Amino acid sequence: MLYKKLAELYKELSSTTKRLEKTEILSKFLKYLPESDRDVLYLLLGGIYPEYDERRIGISNQLAIKAISKSIGADKNEVVKEWKSIGDLGQVAEKLKTKKKQSTLHSNVLTTGKVLENLRKLPGLEGKGTVNKKLALITELFTSASPIEMLYLTRTLIGDLRIGVQESTVREGMSSAFFNKEKTTSELIQKAIDKSNDLALVFEIVKKGKTRDLKKVPLKVGHPIKAMLPKKVSKIKDGFKEVGQPCALEYKYDGFRMLIHKKKNEIILFTRSLENVTKQFPEVVDYVKKHVKGDSLILDSEAVGFDKKTKKYTDFQAISQRIRRKYDIDQLKEKLPIELNIFDILYYDGKSLLDEPFEKRAQLIRKIVKNIPYKIIASKQIITGNEKKAIEFYKKALKDNQEGVMMKNLNSPYRPGRRVGNMVKMKPEERDLDLVITGAEYGTGKRSGWLSSFILSCKGSNGYLRVGKVGTGIKEKSEEGISFDELTKLLVPLIKKEKGKNIEIKPKIVVAVTYQEIQKSPNYDSGFALRFPRFTALRPDKPLSEITTLDEIKKDFENQKRNYRYG
Ligand code: ATP
Repeated sequence: MLYKKLAELYKELSSTTKRLEKTEILSKFLKYLPESDRDVLYLLLGGIYPEYDERRIGISNQLAIKAISKSIGADKNEVVKEWKSIGDLGQVAEKLKTKKKQSTLHSNVLTTGKVLENLRKLPGLEGKGTVNKKLALITELFTSASPIEMLYLTRTLIGDLRIGVQESTVREGMSSAFFNKEKTTSELIQKAIDKSNDLALVFEIVKKGKTRDLKKVPLKVGHPIKAMLPKKVSKIKDGFKEVGQPCALEYKYDGFRMLIHKKKNEIILFTRSLENVTKQFPEVVDYVKKHVKGDSLILDSEAVGFDKKTKKYTDFQAISQRIRRKYDIDQLKEKLPIELNIFDILYYDGKSLLDEPFEKRAQLIRKIVKNIPYKIIASKQIITGNEKKAIEFYKKALKDNQEGVMMKNLNSPYRPGRRVGNMVKMKPEERDLDLVITGAEYGTGKRSGWLSSFILSCKGSNGYLRVGKVGTGIKEKSEEGISFDELTKLLVPLIKKEKGKNIEIKPKIVVAVTYQEIQKSPNYDSGFALRFPRFTALRPDKPLSEITTLDEIKKDFENQKRNYRYG
């Protein structure tokens, strides 16, 4: 397919902010997209491989600037100057190419195949001469590109496509193109996506129009799967209503989710955002090899930190650095040990267990996992229909420094990626949100040189919406917790635009914050503002798709009003 056609689609998609219109545009496009061009779906979401694949394009602004100037024959400073005034590198590339086009007529025809071929070579390059090799691959594409192609190629390279298309938009597009938007089919498509995390594979199936094949998408050991998520209740009684009585109650451990895949002797660990963290947790690989029976399996678990001396569980914040840190791992694993609490099993010795009832899956865990406290255990669980016993268990979980309890329907299947009603969480009323940083300001005085104040955004139906500004809860420089130094290092490569004091940041870094109150506010595009927000932790394990939504903020705002009124 011609890349020009895809670039025109991107443009059409960005011309509207309305979800339904985007779906219709996509639907028309997908209807006529041949199966042989299925990999175009990766480009549509700004990538080059399925979501489960870790290879990313990862080109810095600086390298993109070099490639633009080289392909156009312009001075690098000219590109930088334009970037400072326009703010969007894609638009800069488009503008400069338009100027250049007037003097040269010749241009090669770019196909999506060629674009994918070159882009896919980028992540594998290593060692000496890497930068030049990358530059050559990009420049080759740029030289053949028209202005509009330059715009979207540049944005794809730096990971900032900005066409407002998410996985769910593509799902709706497919459903509308091939099944007249039937709700059940849309759900089937979503399930197949959640299981495979491969949009092109799912497109190939729906293009054939066989819904029954969607059900047959297999789980693959070694390919990360989106974790099943709970709904929220505020009383044990309501929990029973949701999940049935009796049900299983488990501690809601205050750690981070870890999905463990085992294929013979190979063990791969994934976080909730599908990131491979095997290298960071060598001890977990060891525990699974030694203490879990089975040749091939997929386990779902929570990794919880504990204090080596007192053996007390610590909170998530204490161990969050273990997820990101890729060096000094041996030291860190001694300093911040974790215990694995296994609470679900999705696959065992060649067979998917997704449709088995939870009770059976839980029993199997207890058969194959040897409990070795402070290393690996089957999660603490009781099965009861008795409210008093359930409340006692809940109190015990809190005393053990855990967040609360999970209540689980005994007959329910495992539904990857869904926030389902057959599993609920119950924890004390608190006020914390997971938000993404979308802006920042440089500090002054003692804090000059660091980004020191941060704009936080929640998820709206069509992008991110600002809800507040925070600078509290961050240390100046420290080994543990979040420091200005660390945040600045994380955020500078994500700068999109700098205008005076205000810096626009590409949404990527998710943080947990607490606050005192939510107020209505015209100052932020969400319509709300957090009063006295405070950082509590970085959430490198949490994908952008799962951050707090505007609806949840509205709900918290309403609840808080109710609480004030009644005491
Ligand atoms: P919160 O905001 O309440 O801290 P969260 O941000 O961790 O929750 P939620 O989706 O609200 O995410 O809660 C689900 C998470 O709870 C799971 O992703 C998992 O990491 C964790 N968890 C802890 N213990 C269990 C358990 N026994 N069963 C299932 N999930 C558990």
